[in-house]
Amino acid sequence: MPVAASPGSSGKRDGVGHDRAGSHSKAVNALRRGAPSQGLRILLVEDSDGDADLCRAYLEEGFGSRAKIVRVTRLRDVQEALDQHDMDVVLLDLGLPDSMGVQSVVAVRRMAADVPIVVLTGNRDAQLGVQVIQEHAQDYCAKQDLNPALLTQSIRHAIERHRLQTQYARLLESSPDGIVVLDQDNKTLFANQTACEMLGLNPLRCVGTTLPMEFAAPKSDEIVLPNRQVAEIRSVPVDWNKSPSMLYSYRDITARKQAESRLQQMVQYDELTGLANRNFFFDCLGRLVGGIRREGGMLAMLFMDLDRFKYINDTMGHDAGDELLRQVGKRLSNSVRQGDLLARLGGDEFALILNHIAGPEQAAHVAQKLLQNLEKPLAVHGSKVSVGMSIGIATYPQCGNNVQDIYRAADTAMYRAKEQGKNQFQFFADHMQHRVEERIRIEQAVRRVAADDAFWLAYQPQVRARDGMPVGVEALLRWPDHAPPVFTPAEFIPVAEDIGLINGIGRNVLHSAATMAAQTGRLLGLPLRVAVNVSMRQLYAEHLYSEIETVLNATGLPPDRLEVELTESSVMGDPVRAQRTLAAIRTLGVSVAIDDFGTGYSSMNYLRRLPVDVLKIDRSFVAEIGRNPETEAILHSQVHLARALGLNVVAEGVETAEQWDFLVGAGCDCLQGYYVCRPDTQQRITDWLCGSGSRGS
Ligand code: C2E
Ligand code: CA
Ligand code: CA
Repeated sequence: MPVAASPGSSGKRDGVGHDRAGSHSKAVNALRRGAPSQGLRILLVEDSDGDADLCRAYLEEGFGSRAKIVRVTRLRDVQEALDQHDMDVVLLDLGLPDSMGVQSVVAVRRMAADVPIVVLTGNRDAQLGVQVIQEHAQDYCAKQDLNPALLTQSIRHAIERHRLQTQYARLLESSPDGIVVLDQDNKTLFANQTACEMLGLNPLRCVGTTLPMEFAAPKSDEIVLPNRQVAEIRSVPVDWNKSPSMLYSYRDITARKQAESRLQQMVQYDELTGLANRNFFFDCLGRLVGGIRREGGMLAMLFMDLDRFKYINDTMGHDAGDELLRQVGKRLSNSVRQGDLLARLGGDEFALILNHIAGPEQAAHVAQKLLQNLEKPLAVHGSKVSVGMSIGIATYPQCGNNVQDIYRAADTAMYRAKEQGKNQFQFFADHMQHRVEERIRIEQAVRRVAADDAFWLAYQPQVRARDGMPVGVEALLRWPDHAPPVFTPAEFIPVAEDIGLINGIGRNVLHSAATMAAQTGRLLGLPLRVAVNVSMRQLYAEHLYSEIETVLNATGLPPDRLEVELTESSVMGDPVRAQRTLAAIRTLGVSVAIDDFGTGYSSMNYLRRLPVDVLKIDRSFVAEIGRNPETEAILHSQVHLARALGLNVVAEGVETAEQWDFLVGAGCDCLQGYYVCRPDTQQRITDWLCGSGSRGS
């Protein structure tokens, strides 16, 4: 570090580089060449004639005729002499009639800022502040020791030292860093221009004053400057005019800090919502858990998952999905305290840490508030959207030993909340663990079976109510027997939907079912219709229409032998879009059935406008025939309604003769259920159809 060499530690350095023009440099050149054109101009400030004569004699002896000596006897004449003669060096006696001691040095230094000074000290000046002389003058010699060699050497030394000091000062001035040198009492010995600007110091007055503590002894090595910029401080001990001092450098690191904080923002925060991101969240959770382990207390993690997000994302598009997440983030932020950490873990999952809670009821209270705040619909791209949220709560240290345990527990509790009907919160309880493990098992198994294309289709006949004649079959997806444990469609289909595999599976189902209907129809010589269940995911994916068209072409199945079944709730997801897709499908000649009718919440209005052909009355109604007169009344009105809308009615889940009779009496067109025939393999159902084992009539 070049600036560390203080002007005071220069020593003799003959032959060091060249200077710019200046009185001292003229003097240096004069000394070097030994043949000055203008000589060496020396201002002798000395009131005693005897001492002055002695000096004159010594100087002439030392420098010969080159020395041009101007003498003044009082301090007040110094300025004029300097102005007139452009001096190379000042030789200064400390005891003047109008000034004494240190005062004289300081005064001359002020007048001759750019001229080297050699101080002549007498006996009584021995106790004078040597340090002050060192600070302001370049050299000094005691009068009693004076001789030609000493005086000449002192003057040469002073000139050389002054040259170096100027050079260093220039170096320090030109440094892009702020540089301040402080003495042991924190008084400023030097401050360059940059330092004055950065620290807000007055360049003319700062020398000799105390530097504010925050700059001289900062708590960290980074400080915020008065102008809000950030500086990095370093300090090194230096020797300044032979006394131990401290050099401080201040580097402006504002730009670097800004870049760092942008980076940190990216690393720690979620870009979409501005909330903490997953990594940051788990870092914090780890730290807080550590704190509680050491000091006691309790914290809660709330794991939140939006209830209708997938549907909104699928139906309204990703932009709307993003906007929704942003708004949910804002709503959630409004319900948490300053010290709580709210994060988006990814997708539609959010999480919250409540640190230092008094008890679980406090977490319940917050969960309640979060749910309430989401009750009012959000405005997303001009339309009002309602989302619910399921919250799982786990507390530490009650729910495990580490971050993983807490996370798993909160996640498990969240699933429990979903199962319990969504839009609510649940605390973790031990027994929940195995449900989650089960879900993970199903997920892995579904992936495997789908990859092997090992699902198969069972078929269940539908018969005409009037005469029991088989008119069609419903294709029902089955888990392969060779992949135990065997899961029911109610178990594995929602999982396949969640993990995005249903579209591929559904495409295969369509193809196999159409193939079966075409083959069996030909074989039996009767127009057999096949009903295929279509998931909401398929309905809102782009290619349902073209997939159906492709299947019809590939299998040769006449379009009026294919029926797609969609549940009431999937159609109501986005009625406008569903309507468009269904209408398109119907133009192919394919018919559309509303499955599980009566279990959803479709309004009459929508239903009236939906392009459908068939209503399938849900088996939960059928099961109550003979047991619940109210349900029977509903069944009657459902059939009425369908009639009024010109729709066919299929009743499913018919298990008894009583149910059969009731439904026939109520006016259903077709019946389906164990009472007629259980779902079975293609082969056995084909056999059944051949025997036409209907029992209705
Ligand atoms: P769903 O469309 O309502 O299918 C009728 C369900 O009722 C079938 O259950 C069938 O086996 C059952 N069932 C038929 N008759 C009776 C009866 O008399 N009594 C009783 N208790 N149940 C009867 P399964 O096969 O377990 O299918 C359950 C659900 O899985 C289906 O309900 C449907 O929503 C879904 N599903 C089945 N296959 C597919 C498929 O290929 N794609 C899609 N997306 N979903 C499917
Ligand atoms: Ca169905
Ligand atoms: Ca159904």
